[in-house]
Amino acid sequence: MKQADIILIGGGASGLCAAIEAKRTKPEASVLLLEHLPKVGKKILATGNGRCNLGNLNAHTHDYTNKAFVNGVFSQASTRNLCDFFRSLGLYTRADSEGRLYPLSNTAASVLDALRFECTHLGVEILCDTHVEKVKKSNGGFVLNDCFFARRLIVCCGGCAAPSQGSDGSGYALLRSLGHTVTPTKPSLVQLTTDTAKIRALKGVRATAKLTLSTGGETAGEVLFTDYGLSGIAAMDLSRYVLPNRKAAVTLDFLPDFSRQELTEMLGTLCRRNSALPGENMLTGLVPKALGSAVLKDCLGAVPQTVGTIQPNEFCKIAHALKAFSLTLTGTKGYRDAQVTAG
Ligand SMILES: Cc1cc2nc3c(=O)[nH]c(=O)nc-3n(C[C@H](O)[C@H](O)[C@H](O)COP(=O)(O)OP(=O)(O)OC[C@H]3O[C@@H](n4cnc5c(N)ncnc54)[C@H](O)[C@@H]3O)c2cc1C
Repeated sequence: MKQADIILIGGGASGLCAAIEAKRTKPEASVLLLEHLPKVGKKILATGNGRCNLGNLNAHTHDYTNKAFVNGVFSQASTRNLCDFFRSLGLYTRADSEGRLYPLSNTAASVLDALRFECTHLGVEILCDTHVEKVKKSNGGFVLNDCFFARRLIVCCGGCAAPSQGSDGSGYALLRSLGHTVTPTKPSLVQLTTDTAKIRALKGVRATAKLTLSTGGETAGEVLFTDYGLSGIAAMDLSRYVLPNRKAAVTLDFLPDFSRQELTEMLGTLCRRNSALPGENMLTGLVPKALGSAVLKDCLGAVPQTVGTIQPNEFCKIAHALKAFSLTLTGTKGYRDAQVTAG
């Protein structure tokens, strides 16, 4: 039986960082990391569109629902600590205008390299192609797969999100077998699926909007219309509020800075000034052209030939549709496409 003072299951971001910290804290301890994929850190390479968004200088407890838990994490590991940690690996970071931290190299591969090289430098042993399917307590330690013995065990198997990158949820079964309780989980930071009748012509169109879920929750930012529903950061952010098996609607406000009254007046003025303006161009000063047409179809049934044919009482309807474009939510794209597991 192979023995180690500390065994880590899972060679993702958390497993690699934990292995480094374990070895730095207890240099004399033998540290063994077990990973079931052929290589460690596969998911890291996919993060931040291949750039790896390492953290955010503006991260604050009020951004999270479980503030007490997050407080505990931030007090021990602030974003500054994170930058110091990566600097200690020779990896420097840069923040964009919204405080998002990226490696100076702008490539996720350099984050993985820095973690891997530090593991090698410190003498962390990494064993790939090793799936841990069984763990039990024994002799003051842990026996894994009947062939590894660890005095201490760190489970870093990730959740269920993006299983093609290794996190197949098997870590939860291991933890349950050790007596831990696993709270219900759900896919999060994932695309929303909706009724697509209204948005069929909008595939690939991007817009900014405030999104509100009828069962509670709102976000703001970019949305991308797709053939299954909504993607883009605002839609993916909203996924954390989606309640499984509950009917809901997503309402998009494309012009949150204007009241419905203001918009009604603006549209009236625009149409009176140039009544020959083609209907499909009516809203191009406010939203992308294709979206403008979808909004007009939604509230008037069709895009008018010219704006001069629009009745005065219809400006209010158009303003409403721009501020409350509603789609029936059918669910999310699930764990396969999710970036994180909530729970
Ligand atoms: C497309 C995408 C983009 C993302 N972008 C960002 C971003 O820019 N910034 C950010 O902060 N987060 C981002 N995330 C989220 C981030 O990648 C994860 O939160 C993070 O990687 C989780 O790290 P982890 O080590 O906990 O789990 P994982 O990265 O899932 O690692 C778990 C590891 O354990 C292994 N494993 C699992 N079970 C076993 C087992 N039984 N035996 C042996 N090995 C096992 C897996 O193969 C895997 O290597 C993104 C996620 C995705 C999918």
